[in-house]
Amino acid sequence: MIPVSCGQIAEAVGGELVGVDAEAVVDGPVVIDSRKIEPGGLFVAFAGEKVDGHDYVAAVTEAGAVASLTTRKIEGSPCIVVEDAQSALGELARLVISKLPELVIVGLTGSQGKTSTKDLIAQLLAPYGETVAPAGSHNNELGHPLTALQANERTRFLVAEMGARHIGDITYLCRITPPKIGLVLNVGHSHIGEFGSQDAIAQGKGELIEAVLPGGTAVLNADDQRVAAMAGRTKETVVTFGEGPEADVRATDIALDAGGRPGFTLHLGGETHAVQLQVVGEHQVPNALAAAAAVQAAGLTPEQIAAGLNAATTMSKWRMEVTERADGVTVINDAYNANPESMRAALKALVAIGRARGARTWAVLGPMGELGDDSQREHDGIGRLVVRLDVNRLVVVGEAARPIHLGASLEGSWGNESAYAETSDEALELLRKELRQGDVVLVKASRFVGLDRLATALLEEA
Ligand code: ATP
Ligand code: MG
Repeated sequence: MIPVSCGQIAEAVGGELVGVDAEAVVDGPVVIDSRKIEPGGLFVAFAGEKVDGHDYVAAVTEAGAVASLTTRKIEGSPCIVVEDAQSALGELARLVISKLPELVIVGLTGSQGKTSTKDLIAQLLAPYGETVAPAGSHNNELGHPLTALQANERTRFLVAEMGARHIGDITYLCRITPPKIGLVLNVGHSHIGEFGSQDAIAQGKGELIEAVLPGGTAVLNADDQRVAAMAGRTKETVVTFGEGPEADVRATDIALDAGGRPGFTLHLGGETHAVQLQVVGEHQVPNALAAAAAVQAAGLTPEQIAAGLNAATTMSKWRMEVTERADGVTVINDAYNANPESMRAALKALVAIGRARGARTWAVLGPMGELGDDSQREHDGIGRLVVRLDVNRLVVVGEAARPIHLGASLEGSWGNESAYAETSDEALELLRKELRQGDVVLVKASRFVGLDRLATALLEEA
């Protein structure tokens, strides 16, 4: 963290200094995991369900922590005592960010593709200035401020993934990191339970657009009505991305290469550039366009953007991860999550990879969650697509995915068969018996099903 005195911290978080010199300076990292403390750092003690951070305050003091943010006094350890550790962490991050007025903050949200797009944006910006971005999906009221606290005087760009479960969540995160550039990818069904409706989700995600700073840019998906309508929630510059000719940043001539990676002609800023992505699946095209629009607003030229997109790779796990086993079976692990768009994209990538290798293709598919009333129809449609794309073998896993199996059976004119397995173990048994050298296997489902364990088991075999 940039050097801040304990007195300043206490003032910002409304805390009481207990056994701490107000002049003492924190200049090490701020951590919530006591094992990660370094000399000069600050420990934030959370009382979790299983462990209470307060039990580790003595240990971090021993290890050189300047102080701990706590909700009670700890005898013998310097503490800044607050009422609520989470809001104190937010206020501290806010203080640090307010001391870095030159920092360009790119905030992004959406129902799907946040982490993929965040990874693209961070890789595009990194050659042009020190860039801080969260690891994985650290996008909530804990991960977000902890990421923000990593910024210092040398940091030029901060890329902040913002998740929302309730109205007001994004406003809260934006108070910590006011975005110069705000990007909304899409409004899907995720967390519809908490929000109640897609319109409510749009209301929540659009808070990011309302928070865009004067002189900043809102980046919106022209192909998603609810997102496009967010243009009305800002007076700042609006840039759109999408498929249609009306979008400011768009892609034409999309085609998958032999690795299932999309190539396309990128149109932006009155220029066109050939782009070949290194990430797998057509659903990465809107993510790439969104990233391009965001970094253009941050000052990159179309040429720099095209070069960056050509080089960017996957950084977060289980998203279309292609691995070849020693016995020549290739596993595409996309068990992180699933929705109809990404299912379609994954199947097309599977077929492109299979075709390029002359290989037999397998789709091992589990249920897609959070689809509400559309669930049956969407699953059925995926089954039919498997047949139309002529995937060689289909294994449907789990009761909720059964309509995929039925859809495939009803589509007809497919020389292949669909198998249904009640559990992952049953599916694994079947695959063990039937997989042979050269086969390409896609494993995909929504996260709650745990199909990632099947993918891991498949990779450990051979
Ligand atoms: P989380 O809410 O878990 O943080 P996220 O929004 O960060 O998710 P990613 O981790 O980038 O999203 O991608 C999760 C899954 O969503 C991917 O495995 C893929 O199936 C799907 N996905 C990614 N990008 C898109 C997109 N543009 N449209 C539809 N689905 C997508
Ligand atoms: Mg994420």
